[in-house]
Amino acid sequence: MKFKDYSIIKELKDQLERMAFKKPTDIQFKAIPAILNGEDVMAIAQTGTGKTAAFVIPILDQLVRKKRGKYEGVRTLVMVPTRELAQQITDVFQEIGKDTDVKTFGLYGGVEQEAQIKRLNRKVDVLVATPGRMFDLISQGHLDVSGVEHLILDEADLMLDKGFLKDIQDVVKKIPKKRQTLFFTATIDKKIKSLAYSVVKDALRIQISPKNPVAKNVDHAVAFVEMDHKRFFLENVLTEYEEEAFLVFVRTKVRAERVVAAMERVNIKTTFFHGGLEQGERFKILDAYRKGEIRVLVTTDVAARGIDIPAVKYVVNYDLPEDAENYVHRCGRCGRGRNKGQAISFCSKDEEPLLQTIEEYTGENIARLELDPNEYGQILFDADDPNYDWQKLIDQDNDFWDKEDNW
Ligand code: ADP
Ligand code: MG
Repeated sequence: MKFKDYSIIKELKDQLERMAFKKPTDIQFKAIPAILNGEDVMAIAQTGTGKTAAFVIPILDQLVRKKRGKYEGVRTLVMVPTRELAQQITDVFQEIGKDTDVKTFGLYGGVEQEAQIKRLNRKVDVLVATPGRMFDLISQGHLDVSGVEHLILDEADLMLDKGFLKDIQDVVKKIPKKRQTLFFTATIDKKIKSLAYSVVKDALRIQISPKNPVAKNVDHAVAFVEMDHKRFFLENVLTEYEEEAFLVFVRTKVRAERVVAAMERVNIKTTFFHGGLEQGERFKILDAYRKGEIRVLVTTDVAARGIDIPAVKYVVNYDLPEDAENYVHRCGRCGRGRNKGQAISFCSKDEEPLLQTIEEYTGENIARLELDPNEYGQILFDADDPNYDWQKLIDQDNDFWDKEDNW
């Protein structure tokens, strides 16, 4: 089945064609008809499998077909855990809905409220929001959600982890009971199930490849590397694949900055991206990365979720994530759509228990990169900067695990 055979409005079909979206992905194939039908859906599918368009297409179709009445507030509310994700989903609504008159707006914290209030006064059909700022504006009376027809929760499990449960429940109380509710996620656990059941009854559960939530087109490898030697191995891979886009995950903001400094010493240009940066700066960096102006982004788990940059071929787990679920999300930043991806993890002695947890969680063994002692020695020998003084800096926060504050 192709998009042109769907009973969706022509404006969407034509635009999908222009975007070279010919056939639906598996999750789109299963979810779109159910959503068009008005059903509540809980959709679980691996990273990079097109979950965004799976809700954007049928929602746009419904919004166009069913005209807005006297109600002036928001008609579709999409709740997401990060600002970057809010902006990205806004962009997808705007792109796919380019030829429709549906107005989408991304609402999140970290930027001025005044301009947002002004925008909200000029009718918004689809609001893509992070819970905090949205809740502020509802309480202040600037945001009307009393007639919401569709509620969508993307990456809802992270919202729960970030402590947004109460905000979500409070918002749900303010929107009509009679509505369509959709959940989209790659990973599912008990918390998210209980949230789901608290906001939606009898949702149709659509699950694609339930066993391993990581996209099939990502290859995984792990190298056992001493903590002190990680930077040399990073230097080595970044030099080896000098044309490729890399996303490098570390545990904390401080470490992100130190890894960038370490790479600078050996003349490898990298850029750090974390939650301590001003929001404007965050968007600027991500934009430059998307455009290929930045090749290597060194980041924390703030970039682990949802971010879709098709050019990213390599994900490096410079530090293993403490949370096994985040391994899945981090690696899911590559191998998106039909692209292939490669995830490489650097595992120190101390991190071996984390590796074990990750393998138990995904149910698959990660291929060991056999580094023979000579090769290992050579990488250290080749490293330009054998000076260990500043290495201490990198080590200082080794025992400083990534609480969300440190992202
Ligand atoms: P997920 O939310 O499942 O992780 P996304 O919705 O971000 O994945 O989509 C991943 C990538 O796949 C995006 O770059 C998107 O443009 C692309 N994509 C989605 N659906 C299709 C399709 N039907 N045909 C071609 N590319 C698609
Ligand atoms: Mg997604």
